[in-house]
Amino acid sequence: MPVSIQAPASTLELLDATPRQFLDQEHRNFIDGEWMNASNGATIDVIDPATAHVISAIPDSTAEDIDHAVQAARRAFENPEWRDMIPARREKLLLDLADLIEKNGEELAQLESLDNGKMLHFARAIDVKAGSVAFARYVAGWATKLEGSTFQVSMPEFQQNKFQTYTRREPVGVVAGIVPWNFPLAMAVWKITPALATGCTVVLKPAEETSITAMRLAQLIKEAGVPDGVVNIVTGRGETAGDALVKHSLVDKIAFTGSTEVGKIIGKNAAEDIKRVSLELGGKSPTIVFDDANMEEAILGAANAIFFNQGQVCCAGSRLIVQRKAYEQIVEGVANIAKTLRLGPGLAETTQMGPLVSQAQFDRVSGYISLGREEGAELITGGSTIDHSGYYVEPTIFANTHHDMQIVKEEIFGPVLCCSMFDDIDEAVAIANDTTFGLAASVWTENVRTTHQMIERVTAGTVWVNCHNLLDPNMPWGGFKQSGYGRELGKTVIDLYTELKSVCIKYK
Ligand code: NAD
Repeated sequence: MPVSIQAPASTLELLDATPRQFLDQEHRNFIDGEWMNASNGATIDVIDPATAHVISAIPDSTAEDIDHAVQAARRAFENPEWRDMIPARREKLLLDLADLIEKNGEELAQLESLDNGKMLHFARAIDVKAGSVAFARYVAGWATKLEGSTFQVSMPEFQQNKFQTYTRREPVGVVAGIVPWNFPLAMAVWKITPALATGCTVVLKPAEETSITAMRLAQLIKEAGVPDGVVNIVTGRGETAGDALVKHSLVDKIAFTGSTEVGKIIGKNAAEDIKRVSLELGGKSPTIVFDDANMEEAILGAANAIFFNQGQVCCAGSRLIVQRKAYEQIVEGVANIAKTLRLGPGLAETTQMGPLVSQAQFDRVSGYISLGREEGAELITGGSTIDHSGYYVEPTIFANTHHDMQIVKEEIFGPVLCCSMFDDIDEAVAIANDTTFGLAASVWTENVRTTHQMIERVTAGTVWVNCHNLLDPNMPWGGFKQSGYGRELGKTVIDLYTELKSVCIKYK
């Protein structure tokens, strides 16, 4: 039966005056401190996922626009104004930027909620506050703490004279940041701020589905006083603007977050001229619940793990793996939560789950739901069509799924949960690791031995115990296996944006 949604015909009336004013402006690329249209004048429609209405437009940039931006970033990198800027000044610029994001946080949150479909209170708390302001402040501190080490040398040729040997960290150069649509502002901040902390310059290409907050961020970067050309933001499609950016000979490093499919293309292209590359890619993360877990916490945790941000989260707990005795209670508990979630526009206060980001994403997720039925998985809840324009998908749960099914193997990136059962710890580990991905996993248990065995045996970049989807600026973030390469966040992010130089001085 189709599900109906209580939603206004237009969500624009839910916006405050300030974000509305920004939305209605002409949006242009930010290159060398100036705003400009795509060289061919082409644009991409900005679509409200809650209504499928066109609400704005962004430049559909070309290789020429990318070249213009990369040349500006290269000049800025060589310019003494930036190159010789003392670290404390770079730190202050980042702290000022963080303050400006915070000051304009409500506007940014509303724009993000409108553009992506996510719930406004999550946009405020996660995208703006934790993902952008707190992260920028954390990274700002690294600008003044970059260091090398001194060491001693022992080869025979070093015996006759005296030497001073040490390492120094240097900025890698011009960084290409390419980001997805699920946390648009935060992903942009995750790429731009470590680049600035380390003295690099950047060209950022936001996702074509969600570029609006990056356009506002460009204004704040200018207002913070970041020198012209140090940050450039160019909108456009992946296969044109993104491809040109990855292949540009003056780009030194690519910082990519997105799908594993595109990550592989970028990795191959980067290899052509050995560009530095970090890849934060997809996942199919397990939520593993043992019989002895706190049932109430595990049910709520498993539901949040998959339904947060409509399941459009790289580390979403999309495979629920439960020990036999607890299986029915956990699956039923998560299904009961799924059944009560109120779908609606992210900007509406009554909404508990927003729409997916785009028609393409709606088609993809709906396709997987049909496939799950065809593959013989048991549909516990969801899967109905929605009687509303906009890209709404019901939270959907499949039980009795097994590892041969495509819905279990592939990243769906929507509110679709696949459940399966295990008997002992060996089987839990085997099912959890039976995937090409390795981004994250959560383990729900009260047993300390089970906890430590699982932490050691699960192949994932992050293992949560009795929690899921928790990130911190100081906690390294990245994937094992095909979930990526490199660790963003934490001290490790500095390694991604710097080269290590060894120095050897003969002084006697
Ligand atoms: P996507 O790979 O389709 O696109 C990501 C970005 O790459 C976009 O800006 C796009 O325009 C660009 N792009 C596409 N093709 C390109 C090409 N050939 N050359 C250069 N750039 C290109 O991903 P998406 O659909 O926007 O985002 C969802 C994916 O991102 C999911 O797989 C999700 O798991 C992943 N993700 C991972 C993390 C993480 O931290 N590991 C975080 C968020 C999202």
